[in-house]
Amino acid sequence: MHFQPVFHKQKRPVLIAGPCSAETEEQVLATARGLAGRDVDLFRAGIWKPRTRPGAFEGVGSPGLKWLQRVQAETGLKVTTEVANGLHVQECLKSGVDVFWIGARTTVNPFSMQEIADALEGSDVPVLVKNPVNPDYKLWVGAIERLYKAGLRRIAAVHRGFSTYGDSKYRNVPRWQMPIDLAQEFPDLELICDVSHICGRRDILAETAQKALDLNFDGLMVEVHPAPDTAWSDAAQQITPERFGDMIASLIRRTVTTDDPDFLEYIDRYRCRIDDLDEEIIHLIAQRMQLVREIGYVKKDKNVAILQPERWRALAEACHRRADKNELSREFTTLFLEAIHQEGINQQERVMSQAPLVTGDKP
Ligand code: PEP
Ligand code: MN
Repeated sequence: MHFQPVFHKQKRPVLIAGPCSAETEEQVLATARGLAGRDVDLFRAGIWKPRTRPGAFEGVGSPGLKWLQRVQAETGLKVTTEVANGLHVQECLKSGVDVFWIGARTTVNPFSMQEIADALEGSDVPVLVKNPVNPDYKLWVGAIERLYKAGLRRIAAVHRGFSTYGDSKYRNVPRWQMPIDLAQEFPDLELICDVSHICGRRDILAETAQKALDLNFDGLMVEVHPAPDTAWSDAAQQITPERFGDMIASLIRRTVTTDDPDFLEYIDRYRCRIDDLDEEIIHLIAQRMQLVREIGYVKKDKNVAILQPERWRALAEACHRRADKNELSREFTTLFLEAIHQEGINQQERVMSQAPLVTGDKP
């Protein structure tokens, strides 16, 4: 696939900003006025809101399209909104929405994507495709492919992170390697980072935006609201137009001044992969310890000793064999296994003695 640019090639970073949801005409226009003159390329506002759980604000629907027309007329800003089915597409085409975006809960569904692609056939409106909610690279590419097959060429991808279960610094974990892989496979596909939905909170927006720029994203999508705390959706992650202006002004546009211009990009890519792997390793070890604790309960129940020398010998041998094949030194695997084993014993000892494992951890 070869794409045409949605945004002007010369201007980087591309800036997409606006409220999570269009709530009232006044709120939409106040945000747009606050953003006009701040170098924004595209004004965003969700009209149909796909909420994970029922009962949350589900958007104002079609009447919001008129408000977007007023934004276009009064501020000259181009506008974008989310489309999730063929009807949304028809309404947005009729009302002159400049750019369409596909939300994460739609990208994930091939039926919806096909319906949207069919409704868009014959038009040449630019479309932004967010990654699916789950980290499924093929679904992301598949959604883009469906639009491409319908004849669309002005397509860009939006990285908004991936849902996760359990505690995380982010609302949607970034797993940067996936958008990096996408950019590598499709070098002419513009890549935008939706920092608001990745972070889910204001305090880490700027550092995440900087990271996206350092990873050569073409632009940023940021949720902006005139009174963020009172927003009807995603209040915790929205910022005022002023704060948006300050954040953008604070970003460092890195100019690479080294003999090897690919150097920083190269190490960043590898470091991202390392960060992802480290996160996975910790997660896997935690899962392993959970199993070890489960065994601890059974051993306790049957009055069986914690240390099982035969099992330990067999396990160590199998690991050493695997390590040999993977160019890991015996010295390292021995230390690693001993540490894991010791932690397993400690965890089982705590289970046996009934002491709490960690604060808040209930057996
Ligand atoms: C949004 O942009 O407001 C939105 C619903 O995002 P996502 O589809 O990424 O969850
Ligand atoms: Mn939102």
